[in-house]
Amino acid sequence: MSKKTVFVTSPLLPKLEDFIPMLQDIWDRKWLTNNGYYHKELEKALAEYLGVEYISLFTNGTLPLITALQAMKIAGEVITTPYSFVATTHSIWWNGLKPVFVDVDEETGNIDPEKIEAAITPHTMAIMPVHVYGTPCNMKRIQEIADIYGLKVIYDAAHAFGVRKDGESVLNAGDMSTLSFHATKVYNTIEGGALVCHDAATKKRIDYLKNFGFAGETTVVAPGINSKMDEIRSAYGLLNLKQVDDAIAKRKATAEKYREALKDVPGVRCLQDIEGVRHNYAYFPIFISEEYGISRDDLYAKLQEHDIFGRRYFYPLISTFGAYKGLESANPKNLPVAHKLADQVLCLPMFAGLDGESSDRVIDVVRNKR
Ligand SMILES: *Cc1c(COP(=O)(O)O)cnc(C)c1O
Repeated sequence: MSKKTVFVTSPLLPKLEDFIPMLQDIWDRKWLTNNGYYHKELEKALAEYLGVEYISLFTNGTLPLITALQAMKIAGEVITTPYSFVATTHSIWWNGLKPVFVDVDEETGNIDPEKIEAAITPHTMAIMPVHVYGTPCNMKRIQEIADIYGLKVIYDAAHAFGVRKDGESVLNAGDMSTLSFHATKVYNTIEGGALVCHDAATKKRIDYLKNFGFAGETTVVAPGINSKMDEIRSAYGLLNLKQVDDAIAKRKATAEKYREALKDVPGVRCLQDIEGVRHNYAYFPIFISEEYGISRDDLYAKLQEHDIFGRRYFYPLISTFGAYKGLESANPKNLPVAHKLADQVLCLPMFAGLDGESSDRVIDVVRNKR
């Protein structure tokens, strides 16, 4: 059997020979950043591909979260989920706001809308849910609650590139949505990200904020930040966009293979496709319960013995980290489902370039525990 190391992910790369002429063009133009030609082209292409009207490119996926809160002048408390990548809560913290954790739904790992109301106080101004693993949140219910209490909704859609529900992009839900184009994501620009909003005036404000607040040569309208995407990564992004549908189709085939191979293994739960949702198969989490016989961490170690590196996304929960664990809402008693999922989850290797022999090896270890 091959001894090839299999990581949880591997980046989608454009062909180098396609990229070199674009680099030559950038060299000729001598315009490297600040809303250049490729930056504009990529914004246009992404808006069309994603089915959104207004999108602003960023240099990574964390700064759009931070900027979304700035753009809407959120103060006080923001309700969020502990079952995510740390950047979600960090963005709240970096704005000097108080994160308030709400437990998640066991089926999907997304924030449980039925537990949001109990966490609302007079200081609550926004909700920041995450479409974990690309599974759409219950956007309708979240919006109902937001409307009743007058709250803004910012979706961390870092996992949800290209995800649609009933034909509509999930990025059109709420007041804003953020994307990450980090190398490990379904679609990447090496590092990169975007902020989606729903009107031209808001996009203008976001574009000021990501460029120090400059609204003209001598006008600064707000204490902005620098989070612009450069021309090289914008060009790279245009190339990767052309192959992302093919990449998602390959991910889907792997997901179907894993599900079929693991469906009769007691104590292993996989996520299933949801009717009406165009999934992107960003991750392939399995949830290991007692029935499986060995623990999640034993399986994690066993895979490593075979040079297969799964990842425990999302363990530990954000609410257990130093900055947050003292918060009342971080008490494990408030987050039983999130703790359960964090203890059970293991993400199996999932990427477009995963070959059949490698996924066979993964399946063999999970099925046979040896
Ligand atoms: C990747 C990720 C981010 C941060 O994106 P970067 O591009 O790495 O800054 C934010 N939220 C979630 C849920 C993510 O998975």
